[in-house]
Amino acid sequence: MSIQVYKFGGASVKNHEGIRNVANIIKKYGLQKSLIIVVSATGKTTNQLEEVIKEKFKNIKSALELLKAIHEKHIHIAQELGFEEEHVVYQEIQEHFVEAEWIIEETREMSFDYVYDQIIAVGELISSRILSRWLEKVGIDIEWIDAREIIQTNDTYRDARIEWENTNSKIINTLSPVLRNGKMIVTQGFIGSTTENNTTTLGREGSDYTAAILSSAVQAESMTIWKDVPGILTADPAKFLNVSKLDRLTYTEAIEMTYYGAKVIHPKTIQPLKLKSIPLYVKSFIHPEGEGSVITGDIDLEYPPIVVLEPNQALVHFSSNDLSFIAEHHLAHLFKLFEKHRIKINMMRNTAISFSVCVSYDPDRLNRMIDEIKNEFRVIIDLNLELITVRHYIDSMLPKLVEEKIIILEERIRKTIQMVVKNAPSIIPKPSES
Ligand code: ASP
Ligand code: MG
Repeated sequence: MSIQVYKFGGASVKNHEGIRNVANIIKKYGLQKSLIIVVSATGKTTNQLEEVIKEKFKNIKSALELLKAIHEKHIHIAQELGFEEEHVVYQEIQEHFVEAEWIIEETREMSFDYVYDQIIAVGELISSRILSRWLEKVGIDIEWIDAREIIQTNDTYRDARIEWENTNSKIINTLSPVLRNGKMIVTQGFIGSTTENNTTTLGREGSDYTAAILSSAVQAESMTIWKDVPGILTADPAKFLNVSKLDRLTYTEAIEMTYYGAKVIHPKTIQPLKLKSIPLYVKSFIHPEGEGSVITGDIDLEYPPIVVLEPNQALVHFSSNDLSFIAEHHLAHLFKLFEKHRIKINMMRNTAISFSVCVSYDPDRLNRMIDEIKNEFRVIIDLNLELITVRHYIDSMLPKLVEEKIIILEERIRKTIQMVVKNAPSIIPKPSES
């Protein structure tokens, strides 16, 4: 059985036109195949649910109001799709919202991350309900599957780790019989469940990763991510002019790009695909006939320069309080804490008495870490920085990239240059005194 996995992100299902378009793509390109469809929450729903969650810890009543607005938005999408008032889709949507309401109204003490996952999952649950009922309505034989029945994780809420063995066997046992019956599957990205049946999530933008986990478990023939761009581009078209599409790249190049912050694919997506040599297509849901990009095994390819920008960076400098050298035991200690507080290092540098890291700025995590070491280390933080990474750089392109910027830290290795920069203060001439 040759199986394909399609992933549709939030932008592709942001309204009823989007959902109709997704169905058209499936009808045009997916009908001949055994298809597993992974979908994200509609449009900006995940961000809106994050507001609900923050509000729950301040004011339950206004959290419920925010949630109601999200509920209404989805009812509206279903109405625009022409579902009659008594259609079961409204009840399905309702049931997921009721579960979120319970969590909001619950007054016992619960950790923020736990609450987050229980509520945020509603976004994917309802988008997948609507999509699957719509596919059914346009005549596709479909089965909706709750991803929490197949994606088993540990209980690190908001950044859950996959329990591979259980997950693989659940996927195969649950999905294979459905596919064998000639049905397509619609399920949710991003969410999973612990052995105690608590909902977990795989980290923001984690739906790509879900699709890769499913692809790997069923040994899919290929996986396709349908996006609002024509494929993988050499830079963000919102910020650069002469951007071009990469027709083909290797798993390794894709891992490097996403590691440095390219937002096209979730960084964890590539590895499970690479292990099983499953090609990953990135295509446009706006122009589905386009070639897109394909990521495959390691062959020699020539690449143009690829620019990745990561805003919101902080440079954190550690020096030992007693001015002792930053020796290995200090570094080992610091790295344990980076791991414990889940701080991802984007770049680093050491001198005799100091150690500096560039990290994506998350004040909660960073402050928790600094709190733990304040007796041993002095810490200075530079904020509002940007990290520019260029793969396959050409020297002549660099001055333009850092125009009006001050380079604070720079590192070159064979194929990659990284620069931590901040905006140069604009110098305003003094009015003449005469
Ligand atoms: N809906 C989730 C998010 O916006 C997961 C995803 O879209 O991949 O982060
Ligand atoms: Mg999304």
